[in-house]
Amino acid sequence: MFFSKLKDNLKKTKEALDIKLNSVFNKNKEIDELIDDIEEILILSDIGMNTSVKICDNVRVKMKAERDKSEENLKSILKREMIDILNKCNVYNADPYEKQVILVVGVNGVGKTTSIGKLAKMYKSQGKRVLLAAADTFRAGAIEQLDIWAKRAGVDIVLSKDGQDPASVVYDATKLFANSDFDILICDTAGRLHNKKNLMDELEKIKRTISKNVPDISTNVYIVVDATTGQNATVQVKKFFERTSVNGIILTKLDSTAKGGIVFNIVDELAIPVKYIGIGEQIDDMEVFDSEKFVDSII
Ligand code: GDP
Ligand code: MG
Repeated sequence: MFFSKLKDNLKKTKEALDIKLNSVFNKNKEIDELIDDIEEILILSDIGMNTSVKICDNVRVKMKAERDKSEENLKSILKREMIDILNKCNVYNADPYEKQVILVVGVNGVGKTTSIGKLAKMYKSQGKRVLLAAADTFRAGAIEQLDIWAKRAGVDIVLSKDGQDPASVVYDATKLFANSDFDILICDTAGRLHNKKNLMDELEKIKRTISKNVPDISTNVYIVVDATTGQNATVQVKKFFERTSVNGIILTKLDSTAKGGIVFNIVDELAIPVKYIGIGEQIDDMEVFDSEKFVDSII
């Protein structure tokens, strides 16, 4: 049932890819010509030029070595190559099960606060004790918004007092986290300050606060990107990466775009794993990213 929900929510991307692929398959072409057509479709679906060429070059080599030259076999080789691109850095690790701090970063409007609400619910349903920190003190309404998600998920939250800066909210939250039996602390952050340097400085300050207060706990920095922005999602991660190290991506809004091919581009170009995907606005609309399941849902 879960699988069909994913399929359903990814149908815009599926329409952009699968239907076009099937239409080139039905025309009795030579393999080289077919693969050229496939390459064009991959590029147009936001997988990006370099990644599409890489996938298709591999498909061409493998297909030529195959005895079975059928289109069916070609499609299954294509799917395998697409999964392999994702698996290169997306080997699923068990980090959701250990005590950890998660710092969620990304520009305004990409879905940070929403994703934190979803993550809180996900971890809670695994039996974890979750604490949230409302450290986006710059955007009007951001704290109340996270507070609403905390209530929906049924988890605790550290709210900021008037005029507190983000790092000091994180200071309070990490102190509480260190002295209690919470398993996971998730910190919301601002997506925008007066300028980019201020934002990056603030994030570095937050990271220092975390490593000072909870030095022995593993910290993951997850960047949230909006799939509807297509290639710009890759650019955004690159920009953050210049100053702040990131160890995972949360890709949101895959339900409302045909640009889901961006996943391949992000993983291939940046070598950062996509950890979670957002597939809707409700609390259960998030999944742990699974390469095989993803490819099976879009092709
Ligand atoms: P933030 O500024 O990064 O904290 O972004 P928000 O969490 O406030 O989300 C901005 C908008 O994106 C809201 O309207 C959310 O409902 C919407 N949103 C977030 N994630 C998803 C998703 O996976 N799918 C869809 N369709 N909308 C989403
Ligand atoms: Mg927010």
